[in-house]
Amino acid sequence: MVLAPGWKRAAAATALAACIAAAASAQQPWTDDPVVAGQTPIRAVHLQEIIQRIDALRAGRGLPEATYADRPRPRGGVRADVISGAISALAAVYRADGLAPPTYGRVASGEPIRAATLNALRAAIVDRERLPPARPSTVAGRIIDARHEQVVLWNARVELGDRHVITRRDGRYRFDRVSGPVTLAVDAGGYVGQSRQVFVQRDLDLDFVLQREGTAFPEGSGAMSLTFIDNDGTTLFDGITDAGQAQADCPASRPGTVHRFDVRFIDGRSSFVDVDPELGDHAEAMRHATGMGRALGRVPTVLRAGVQSVCLHNDGTEAANFAYPAAGRIYYYLPGRDANDLAPITLHEGTHVALDPHHRHTPEWRAAVGADGNHISDYGTGSEDLAESFPAWFLVRYNPEHIADWAKRAVLLTIPNRLAYLEAQGFDMSPYAPTGSLMVTPGPIYAKRRGDPQPF
Ligand SMILES: [Zn+2]
Repeated sequence: MVLAPGWKRAAAATALAACIAAAASAQQPWTDDPVVAGQTPIRAVHLQEIIQRIDALRAGRGLPEATYADRPRPRGGVRADVISGAISALAAVYRADGLAPPTYGRVASGEPIRAATLNALRAAIVDRERLPPARPSTVAGRIIDARHEQVVLWNARVELGDRHVITRRDGRYRFDRVSGPVTLAVDAGGYVGQSRQVFVQRDLDLDFVLQREGTAFPEGSGAMSLTFIDNDGTTLFDGITDAGQAQADCPASRPGTVHRFDVRFIDGRSSFVDVDPELGDHAEAMRHATGMGRALGRVPTVLRAGVQSVCLHNDGTEAANFAYPAAGRIYYYLPGRDANDLAPITLHEGTHVALDPHHRHTPEWRAAVGADGNHISDYGTGSEDLAESFPAWFLVRYNPEHIADWAKRAVLLTIPNRLAYLEAQGFDMSPYAPTGSLMVTPGPIYAKRRGDPQPF
């Protein structure tokens, strides 16, 4: 509605009230009205309309969803049991309005549906849809995660007709001046959307409980930045020894002579680091290998123990960073970065070499993946699943101070079965201690939708 200049507030209010009244009194037509005994075959659509409109009336009174003996199917037959269910579902609406439910004559299970019963039921529905002068009401409620009733969704989009609101940290939405038949629809990133028809006649408190779908972090796991294990993290790196020149596939596509170094850790373990000669002279190669040793010394021991060797290369034409689990070897494309900064990505590549071969195909891991029913990130599917899930577990369990509360909740609610699996393995996670809880705490989850900026 657009107001011309000069309109007074009172006139605007009158026009708005008229709009609302018109919306409320606009009854949808019934298919085949009336149904004529002996002429109109009773069809599934007749029952679907009745159920839909009773559901909307019930939702408008805050009544729970009704169960019908057998919801009619578009092609399936219709059964009189549905009519019995509809009659009792509508009776609750009458009782909620302080009225005695109407009676409809004889309705027996297994008998054909009578046209008179159907027409009477329709009239009884329309009677409850016909409002006293429409009183604009408030429809409000919360958007809740189905796995945890204390977790609300922040940034969910709730639509009512052509209006919409975005929930904030309290997970609440609210629409004022609503009456009559409306459709409410909820859309939240990472969750299955929902819509409900509601016949609004009074203020309503209507929560939506959404099931998780897809990933905790659409567009990848940017929300769980792992950069905290960069330069200043504790490292178990102990020293480095020049192992001379070696023939090696570094990069894999171009075997040749590399600078090789042994890196030692304070627990007595060691790995070797090959440096592509294109990255610099011997002194430069040693500097790179030392940085790599420090980075390796910052990832949990269970991963480091599986990394037999690292290749630092200069070939950006292929996949830049990757792992060969069978050889326990990781390849990093180094230009533009410092090897000392590679600890975060080593959580991912290290999982490929150290854990994929032993865990990704076990029945227990597969069962956990199936039970979770989704993934931690869009990238974390198929062969990337464990390599994306392990860092998430490491973060919430071993470094909880480095993850936002909402992101931690998202991890805990998205992959609880994978987390339990990893928890049960007894991995050597030194030098880290388990300081984070896997309990879900009340609060919001930021339901990130594609294209949204990070909420911080
Ligand atoms: Zn990967």
